[in-house]
Amino acid sequence: MANIRVCARFRPAILQDDGEVLHFARSDSRSFTLQDENDEHHTFSFDKVFYKDSEQADVYEFLASHLVRDVVKGINGTIITYGETGAGKTYTMEGANIMETENYKKGLLPRVVDELFEVISLCGEATAYKIKLSMVEIYMERVRDLLDLSKDNIQIEEHEEHGMLLCGSTEILISDGEEALKLLSSGIANRAVGESKTNKASSRSHCIYIFTVEKEVANEKRVSTGKLVLVDLTGSETTDADGRALEEAKTIKKSLSALENMIDALISGQENHISFRDSKITRILQATLGGSFQTALLCCCSPGLCHFPKTLCTLLFGARIKALSAFNEAMSSMKETTEKLVYTTAELLRENQRLK
Ligand code: ADP
Ligand code: MG
Repeated sequence: MANIRVCARFRPAILQDDGEVLHFARSDSRSFTLQDENDEHHTFSFDKVFYKDSEQADVYEFLASHLVRDVVKGINGTIITYGETGAGKTYTMEGANIMETENYKKGLLPRVVDELFEVISLCGEATAYKIKLSMVEIYMERVRDLLDLSKDNIQIEEHEEHGMLLCGSTEILISDGEEALKLLSSGIANRAVGESKTNKASSRSHCIYIFTVEKEVANEKRVSTGKLVLVDLTGSETTDADGRALEEAKTIKKSLSALENMIDALISGQENHISFRDSKITRILQATLGGSFQTALLCCCSPGLCHFPKTLCTLLFGARIKALSAFNEAMSSMKETTEKLVYTTAELLRENQRLK
């Protein structure tokens, strides 16, 4: 995994069950220390931390904007919102509402759409772009097409060039922002919705939005393709559930740990040992997370003290990913320095010979 940006976001305390809020003993734009009920301190560092007053526009700017500009050049990217139910994943991804007109409430998706069309409008006429949108959800380990509900068990197939293919999933060509938003809105309305303790309308499925950008330059026969995948994961709670809800919770938990294991393995360079086949979410993300793709992970956190144990799990996962990617960066820069030194030494020896 080449490039991963890990951030955390705390939403404001606006829900009834938020109760007493978390106490920050210290905080700045990249790190913070949380003080728990036993006065213990927990310090975390990320690429960026967004607090309760953070703006949707700032989250977009740091997390997504560079990926949007890169997908137009054919570089794939993935943006994942992670965290317990009610922590603000969907608010970050969609906004207060996908059709939201008030700019400050707009989430990542409408902003991705805006910037995509803006970037391609600035490219000259010699370049032709096609932007396609697919939307699927993974519910109880079945991939459902959110743009065509009759396709409720989409198969995932490995593909030499694109890494992964969602066989027969609907891909719709979008020609402007308005069309894209209408499509997103109808897809979102098709999501499987259940009731969880913390958030009545929370979805019990992972939702995956795939923007495919095809670029064709006049006089060049080649068409380059970039994919930008946005993933709104579901939370893994509802432990006191029974019946179907319990089955849902178990399935969700299993797929989330498969994803965590995969990211861990990718970052620690143990890709060969990874079983991508563990779950549907890992199989779908295999193409965008493996290799030299760019990833942004947002750990969404509730502000309530009573949610602290879950929040801690979310933050620990993010911190592990951050630490591993920092280690990787340090290793590769060390390798570069060593290579340079070896090269310079060889040059010096040659020069020495010549002078002799
Ligand atoms: P999740 O998708 O993680 O389950 P939601 O995004 O649905 O959580 O957020 C739970 C509630 O909190 C929703 O009512 C949402 O509108 C609200 N909310 C989340 N984040 C923010 C925020 N940054 N500002 C204002 N309201 C927020
Ligand atoms: Mg949600």
